[in-house]
Amino acid sequence: MDTYQREWLTECTSSPGIFPGLPSPASGDARLGSITPESSTNTTLYSPGSVDQQALLTELECHICCSLPIRPVTTLCGHTFCQSCLLRTLDHNGACPLCRHSLGRYADYVDHQPNRALVALCEALFPNQMADRHAAEAAEIQQRQLEVPIFVCSLMFPTMPSQLYIYEPRYRLMMRHCLQASQKQFAMCIPGPPSAKIGVGYGRPDPAVMDYGTMMEIKSVRYLPDGQSVVQVRGIYRFRLLSYAMRNEYWTGRLERLDDVDKLEVELEHLNMPRQLMLTCRQFIQRLHESKAPWLINRLEENAGPMPTTPEPFSFWMATVLPIDMYEKYKLLETRSTRERLRMISEWIEKLQTSMFFSNSCNLM
Ligand SMILES: [Zn+2]
Ligand SMILES: [Zn+2]
Repeated sequence: MDTYQREWLTECTSSPGIFPGLPSPASGDARLGSITPESSTNTTLYSPGSVDQQALLTELECHICCSLPIRPVTTLCGHTFCQSCLLRTLDHNGACPLCRHSLGRYADYVDHQPNRALVALCEALFPNQMADRHAAEAAEIQQRQLEVPIFVCSLMFPTMPSQLYIYEPRYRLMMRHCLQASQKQFAMCIPGPPSAKIGVGYGRPDPAVMDYGTMMEIKSVRYLPDGQSVVQVRGIYRFRLLSYAMRNEYWTGRLERLDDVDKLEVELEHLNMPRQLMLTCRQFIQRLHESKAPWLINRLEENAGPMPTTPEPFSFWMATVLPIDMYEKYKLLETRSTRERLRMISEWIEKLQTSMFFSNSCNLM
């Protein structure tokens, strides 16, 4: 018991009428942890000299998880829940789960200080149960870190920044779990192609998640008043999923990192083949700027940042800004050769330059 808890308990137990059943602090802390359940059925709850431990336990429990509260938060309406339980309900609804009172801004509960009096009381009266609760929570966090959370959303590439708008309850939960972890990362995958759901590949299970993806690092999170959030992320590396399963309402998986086998560390301009390719790409981007829809490429460049000068990030930058079908771009994630990726991009550009869209609508040719 720390100094704060000791002082608080001294104050409570010396004030008549607050917890009259609690033993005097002068009798020693050992007694606080050894209160026995009231044996006499005629004894009034909290009668002097005794405490019905089970009744007190029930009073203190979080009404959502029905356990002693971890980081208890008392709401505007006076109800108290574990912080994680409360945030989970707020993912779905902004009202108190007990009395339906509006709870105000979600962000206020993210940084909310726990109800210290309740923490002290629980730790003092139920040390064993609280130790079990803390151990269970630590084990759960450790277990979660054995697998990587998977955000099934859009195609991302290493080194590329992006901004995500998190509104689905399952991904709000996932983001909180990511932020609790030592490495604030998650895996970004795309869903299986629609063709898989209309009979192509008959006899095989629909792939809910494509096998290759990009590990993302969370750079910052900005909560909106209702708990939805805007998250700034950046791609770190590519991976292949070894296995995945639905846990905690979202997908989690085990994966292996993928790197290029022919990593080209030199500047693009010092390579013959990529140099020509880079020139082609620059000319193509320039044409997009001069087209009838320059806002399109401006917006893409704004999001993707300036064009890199080294081959690997350059290939991912081009893949990000080119208006190509997502499942076509996905092939780049599987490719372990920078040269091969650059060749694929070159082919896309050729197709785009001859397509109806660019020759007619954008007046490129
Ligand atoms: Zn709870
Ligand atoms: Zn309430």
